[in-house]
Amino acid sequence: MYIEKVKSSRLTPESLEIKTFGNTFADHMLVCNYKDGVWGEAKIIPFQEMSFSPAMQAIHYGQACFEGMKAYKDENGDVFMFRPEKNFERINNSAIRLNMPPVPKEVFMDGLKALLDIDRDWVPPTYGMALYLRPFIFATEPMITARSSEEFMFCVITAVAPDYYAKPLRVKIADKYSRSANGGVGYAKAAGNYAASFYPTKLAREEGFDQVIWTDASTHEFIEEAGTMNVFVRINDTLITAPISERILNGVTRNSLINIAKHNGWKVEERPIKVSEMKAAHKDGSLKEVFGCGTAVVLNTFSAIGYPDETLDLADMPMEESWGKQLKKQLMDIQNNKSEDPFGWRV
Ligand code: PMP
Repeated sequence: MYIEKVKSSRLTPESLEIKTFGNTFADHMLVCNYKDGVWGEAKIIPFQEMSFSPAMQAIHYGQACFEGMKAYKDENGDVFMFRPEKNFERINNSAIRLNMPPVPKEVFMDGLKALLDIDRDWVPPTYGMALYLRPFIFATEPMITARSSEEFMFCVITAVAPDYYAKPLRVKIADKYSRSANGGVGYAKAAGNYAASFYPTKLAREEGFDQVIWTDASTHEFIEEAGTMNVFVRINDTLITAPISERILNGVTRNSLINIAKHNGWKVEERPIKVSEMKAAHKDGSLKEVFGCGTAVVLNTFSAIGYPDETLDLADMPMEESWGKQLKKQLMDIQNNKSEDPFGWRV
């Protein structure tokens, strides 16, 4: 692999103490181009601005997808990724749906490992912090005809992720807008899915909510996801989450929490869950907790759920009673090498 290192690192002690996510980038990035039907050599180069034609297809037609994952550092200074194979599979499922060429496994895996090795000082040693890894593929052909690009770029950039206190979220149930539909691209991490979510999210914010709970597009009767998280509802001693479908992103965190909960001996059901079922459970007192999960926040509990006619409040539970809080700690302990890894997830 071609490697060009920075002449001097931008890393300062403050870089690893940041409080905002998304703009403290590590020194290096990975790039790999696809042209004439083949992926070229992966290269690690200094993080830098790149120039493209204003006709680049990704800008016009949204032919782009991405991944989100994290690397953690333990007390010995060893660096771990968490289940990177899952992200490798998912980026290629997304790529295929968007008519982009899958990235070869060695480019993705060896590229990530090499990049992390070079920028290992950028992985914060603090429990709760991480280096966020952002692999992405986008269409680079300078051609404004509305057809698939034939040239693409695979990149990985990384950014320091703070340990921000995840305040309980107020979420609003979508009764008009949708993020996905049958036959669509909801299961893909397609760039356009996120663009389409910003406006409904802005409207929800104007009403005093933090995020939207996405429901199924045809009836709005079933709970699917929340913001950029998968959703769990706990009714008495059963955790319920929507089954993976073509409309739902197959979250790595969701799958990991299901495994940990089952390992704890807790009952987990992957089945459609109705908006009305959650309301009825709130009325009869069996709705214990509702939370979202994803790589960025790990797990975020919900404090209020907005229906068109009323808002249901959910009490914040102490750790001993909250399955969500316990699952979050168990998952973070595995990710940070603070506990056994019974599932073999650390890489
Ligand atoms: N749903 C959506 C729409 C997302 O963008 C994400 C974040 N990737 C998730 C769920 C959670 O997925 P993961 O646990 O793999 O981060």
